[in-house]
Amino acid sequence: MRQSQLFPKTKKEAPKDAESINHKLLVRAGFMDQLMAGSWTLLPMGFKVVQKINQIIREEINAVGGQEMLMPLLHPKTIWNETGRWDKADEIMYKLKDSRDKEYALSFTHEEIVMDLLRKTISSYKDLPVSIYHFSTKFRNELRAKSGILRGREFMMKDLYSAHANEVDLMEYYEKVKVAYSKIFTRLGFNFKIAKASGGVFTDKFTHEFQVLSDVGEDTIYWKEGDEEAVNEEVMEGDKAEYKSAKSIEVGNIFPLGTFYSERMRAYFTDRDGGKKPIWFGSYGIGPTRVMGTWVEVSHDDKGIIWSKQIAPYDVHLVELKSDSGEGKAEKIYDKLKQMGFDVLWDDRDVSAGEKFGDIDLIGIPVRLVVSDKTGDKIEHKERTSDKSELLSFEEVARRLQE
Ligand code: ATP
Ligand code: MG
Repeated sequence: MRQSQLFPKTKKEAPKDAESINHKLLVRAGFMDQLMAGSWTLLPMGFKVVQKINQIIREEINAVGGQEMLMPLLHPKTIWNETGRWDKADEIMYKLKDSRDKEYALSFTHEEIVMDLLRKTISSYKDLPVSIYHFSTKFRNELRAKSGILRGREFMMKDLYSAHANEVDLMEYYEKVKVAYSKIFTRLGFNFKIAKASGGVFTDKFTHEFQVLSDVGEDTIYWKEGDEEAVNEEVMEGDKAEYKSAKSIEVGNIFPLGTFYSERMRAYFTDRDGGKKPIWFGSYGIGPTRVMGTWVEVSHDDKGIIWSKQIAPYDVHLVELKSDSGEGKAEKIYDKLKQMGFDVLWDDRDVSAGEKFGDIDLIGIPVRLVVSDKTGDKIEHKERTSDKSELLSFEEVARRLQE
């Protein structure tokens, strides 16, 4: 991508109302734009990052048998009445009426929609288990939407739902998803803990949250050295002084919902013994847009964002410093790297070196390549995380990128 054509340009200043780091940096660097409180456009680079996050999630969810699909966002009131959540989740739901006074909700989650599918499609234990998911928008009337993209009123979620013939099968799958989520957040490079938490409006049982340690987090978790799992403050019992604690950002949550939904929505199946039984149900969410914001909160410096290789919008940021003789070198390197399959952002703009280097640090692509008169037939290679640069041959640069 030629930076002269990249939409939009970077900004010198953060928006005045921006309070959080992710809001300031992601807007300045051109990854997202705020339409109104809690409502964000993912600009081309932001969308690339979220797609990379989604692909990591997709691979691990597919590996535990999840089948990807897509469900609607506009839901009839009637279906939410079946579980009582039309009233119970009143605060968080956006509700609307059409011109004929029919009432709808905008999706804040999809349990009822999946349960409707299951009751129409599952009749025998032979039809179970089922594991289905989608990536789609969720709408929630969040009271405080001030932490940038960490808390949107409209945001992206990957939600997986599983259906089982009995509790043992559900809990075995629940543990598998817990492992899959750990793989996802490990691949994403987070310092995270799994924390036991309450079910909120979703279930009266416990749930598990995936919490990234960060001082800007709204949650507090407690754990003892060597413990496999932490506990969210909301369900913390015992003497807090005996535990380590940290602020954290919830990036994922898994729910062993049981038969609450199937009983209310009459989603029954015929078991081996011929008896009619309610489907055992679980749901599992991750917020990819919150994940992007969380990454920026935990990985930046005073100059800008520091992306990892896994989710960076581009593999390389290439720049040529203007000179009498050196021009034209970058284009050749750009073409060769592209042919090799690397995703390159080439700053081909006619602006000062200072402006180019400023943007490179702000955008935060893992590798910076500079060519100029000074570099001769070599390329100056520098990583975003390092202060040192090295002069390397093209082959050496390509080898490093492949590592
Ligand atoms: P929170 O406690 O932060 O309000 P939640 O527990 O209500 O979140 P869940 O219903 O568990 O959220 O949603 C699953 C995942 O969706 C969360 O772990 C988070 O990654 C993401 N998420 C939830 N609410 C938002 C939001 N308002 N904006 C962006 N992502 C969100
Ligand atoms: Mg949650």
